Amino acid sequence: MKFELTILGSSGAMPFKDRYMTAHVLNIREQLFLIDCGEGTQMRMSRFRVRRGKINHIFISHLHGDHIFGLPGLLTSFGMNLRTENLYIYSPPGLKQMIDGLFPYEGKGPSFEIIYRELDTTVHQMVFENEDVEVWTIPLSHGIPCNGYLFKEKPKQRKMLKEKIKEYNIPFQDIAGIKEGNDWTDANGNMIPNSELTTAPPPVRSYAFCSDTAYKEDIVPIIEGVDLLYHEATFLEEAIDKAIATNHSTALQAGRIASKANVRQLVIGHYSARYEEINGHLEEARTVFPNTHLGTDGAVFDVERNR
Ligand SMILES: [Zn+2]
Repeated sequence: MKFELTILGSSGAMPFKDRYMTAHVLNIREQLFLIDCGEGTQMRMSRFRVRRGKINHIFISHLHGDHIFGLPGLLTSFGMNLRTENLYIYSPPGLKQMIDGLFPYEGKGPSFEIIYRELDTTVHQMVFENEDVEVWTIPLSHGIPCNGYLFKEKPKQRKMLKEKIKEYNIPFQDIAGIKEGNDWTDANGNMIPNSELTTAPPPVRSYAFCSDTAYKEDIVPIIEGVDLLYHEATFLEEAIDKAIATNHSTALQAGRIASKANVRQLVIGHYSARYEEINGHLEEARTVFPNTHLGTDGAVFDVERNR
């Protein structure tokens, strides 16, 4: 069962050589979630073989252009493909107004409906849930309303051991309860503990997207122990003044947050165009958090593989 992140763009503010603007695709059990949609996102989807038609939920961190200017093109393509599924877009307030202004649709409505959910970026709240996953906001500090997103897989049921069904002659109607964790009592009143009848489901996986943001320790309890943390690292420590002035983080700060939150793996990105080379970012973050990786365009992080 997949839990896989693809980085479509790793540049901050403006594109630079082979670095496009921010957009991530998270594949959870073949459901695709798009996080931010910078300029060029569709080109990257095409290049890295992401099937845009499978995207039904888009999560936008904030309304700076480098995180949203891919949306008009993507919505246009959905219209041309005569998409019919609803599209859900989560963002800070103001996005609907911007998009509505762009699309008069030449007098006709699009073939699909867009359902906007405009979020309070000051609170940590669950904004989406289905049977496989929950998505929570992560309040960030970026000078304008901005939140990250925490994706948490929901636990699967315990697995029933087939041989135990035979051994104890367990009736079919009792199996659902046993899979939920109940013990089972036979006709003679003997209680069989659940641990003898089932095996535990695979551990749940999680991904936290934290961009754009100044260094913000308040997020640590929210992202504690996640499998994969993406934290922006626009600058190196040598430009800490610039990071503070623009509400961004340095690679060292990204590493510090990962370390304090005890995450399994850190991915950094959103590099400023002032850096032609980004290995310095990797080295700097690794001084405080060794399991750091560079988010580069096209990089894929498979959480299953790390377990
Ligand atoms: Zn920004």
